[in-house]
Amino acid sequence: MAIPMVDLKRQLADIRQEIDEGIASVLDSTQFILGPNVTALEQETAVYLGVKHAIGVASGTDALHLALRAAGIREGDEVITSPFTFIATAEAISYLGAKPVFVDIDPDTFNIAADRIEAAITPRTRAVLPVHLFGHPAEMKMIGEICDRHKLHLIEDCAQSFGAAFGGRQTGAFGAFGCFSFFPSKNLGGYGDGGLITTDDDRLAGEVRVLRNHGSRERYVHSLIGYNSRLDELQAVILRVKLKYIDRYNQSRRENAYYYNRCLNHPDIRTPAEREGVRHVYHQYTILVPDRAPIQKALQEAGIASAVYYPIPLHRQDVYLSTHGDVSCPVTEETAKRVLSLPIFPELTQAQIEQICGIILQAL
Ligand SMILES: *Cc1c(COP(=O)(O)O)cnc(C)c1O
Repeated sequence: MAIPMVDLKRQLADIRQEIDEGIASVLDSTQFILGPNVTALEQETAVYLGVKHAIGVASGTDALHLALRAAGIREGDEVITSPFTFIATAEAISYLGAKPVFVDIDPDTFNIAADRIEAAITPRTRAVLPVHLFGHPAEMKMIGEICDRHKLHLIEDCAQSFGAAFGGRQTGAFGAFGCFSFFPSKNLGGYGDGGLITTDDDRLAGEVRVLRNHGSRERYVHSLIGYNSRLDELQAVILRVKLKYIDRYNQSRRENAYYYNRCLNHPDIRTPAEREGVRHVYHQYTILVPDRAPIQKALQEAGIASAVYYPIPLHRQDVYLSTHGDVSCPVTEETAKRVLSLPIFPELTQAQIEQICGIILQAL
């Protein structure tokens, strides 16, 4: 039987009645933008994440964009981030005319190498934007200390890490801002686009609320040029249902990852690291192999999905070549050639994992 990267049909089947009731209640209310479900979701996620404020926005990309803007990032500024991430992380920096400064990654966690950040700081550096890639928290203790020491904003890309924790504290609760995505395939995903910004700072929270709604605090009164970036009620009602199950979903992902680790015990396969003191939520289950092509081919022939996140590091992307052509991140470049992500979703069964691993071990 075919196995996709994510099986949203299976998950929907389990929660269908609650989702249908939620959608029907929004339709009956005919209140579609910034209504009671968005307010409730903001309160529920703030409690879950252990932050003072959570603000719904239109996407994870917008969450990053608005957070960076509210932090005062502007033209000529530099923001230190990882080159091994989805393009949106760097795009949000570029939207504001600032420059993403790419620092190489830790080969074990795939996250920005915290001990290389300080060497990249210049007088123009304003912020550090770590990504909790694949659901493994970045090295938040060291990154937080660096930001404090150099008075830099700390903004977290939590698009892949809803429910992950570092030292018992949720990702999104460390920085001036945490930026989440509710893209359907994320750990907490809606049925369309959506995002969330977290902060403990009352003033910054107010600023983000104004920015997401056309720079308006009061209807038809505009204090600054903002955006149309609101979370809608249908997404919020769906996300409120799924938030109730997020711990169960993440725990299933973790157990699936550990089962994969056992089945893939082979000298040519490096299974994902999980650092002590972190709660990894396995948005992706990503292995390192010397040669992934034959494995991908064998999986594909068996109808099993696999994916490469990410084949081209950001400093090697066409859009950044003219400004970042001389940047060298050897660990990222080597990692990009060898990573392979396997299906990992809460509903994946042990039998499916055994089937996938059997094919991989044979293809080696
Ligand atoms: C998905 C993702 C984003 C963007 O989120 P959208 O909701 O798709 O805009 C940003 N950063 C990372 C690391 C992501 O995985």
